[in-house]
Amino acid sequence: MTRCLDCGSERTGDQCAVCGLTSAAAEVVFRRRLLTQLAFFLAGSLLFPYVSQLYAPLDIDAMLVFFGVVFFSGLFLAFYLDRGAHARRDIEVLRHLFTGLIPVPFIFTAVLFLNGRLDSRQHVVYHPTVVDSRYQMTGIVRGTRRIFVGSWRPGRRFERLAVDSDDFDRFHEGDRIIVGVEPGALGIPWFYGVYRQGTPSSSDPPPQPAPQYLNRN
Ligand SMILES: [Zn+2]
Repeated sequence: MTRCLDCGSERTGDQCAVCGLTSAAAEVVFRRRLLTQLAFFLAGSLLFPYVSQLYAPLDIDAMLVFFGVVFFSGLFLAFYLDRGAHARRDIEVLRHLFTGLIPVPFIFTAVLFLNGRLDSRQHVVYHPTVVDSRYQMTGIVRGTRRIFVGSWRPGRRFERLAVDSDDFDRFHEGDRIIVGVEPGALGIPWFYGVYRQGTPSSSDPPPQPAPQYLNRN
């Protein structure tokens, strides 16, 4: 059984009884639509890494891995659908799967953005900890910099803080620091800032409000 590439209804002859397109015309329409959908998907995929740096969630790396899986699944599906349409294979199920994936990068981006944007900045919780190690990977657009610190969350040994280049250069292994964490308007805790413990200097403003050392989730 073959289905119309344009409207998805069952095809009895070369011309679709529902939308009136021949199989060749339906393929052209289908591929043009696929290209538009792919462009939309890629646009959202570019936004996500940017917003994830803006309001970096504590679990940023796990999210980036998950996002990478979605991204490459989308690319692979688009490629497979294009080939499948050309070969007139039955791609109805995969086509719905792809349509479902298209808004996912935008949803991810919107959730992370609202999670940070709508946060009131009045619930920052400060956790004292120690820098364990650092990790830097230089990228084409912007590099990845992480500071690994002892975790304050139960069941975890380390937190991977997505710091900027200033903080990355400022702190080293063994430094005693204070990590500011926002709970997130949508419940996704995100990394607010990192400060040096002890004598504050002009370059290390003390966290405001006063550290709530005993406040643990
Ligand atoms: Zn049709």
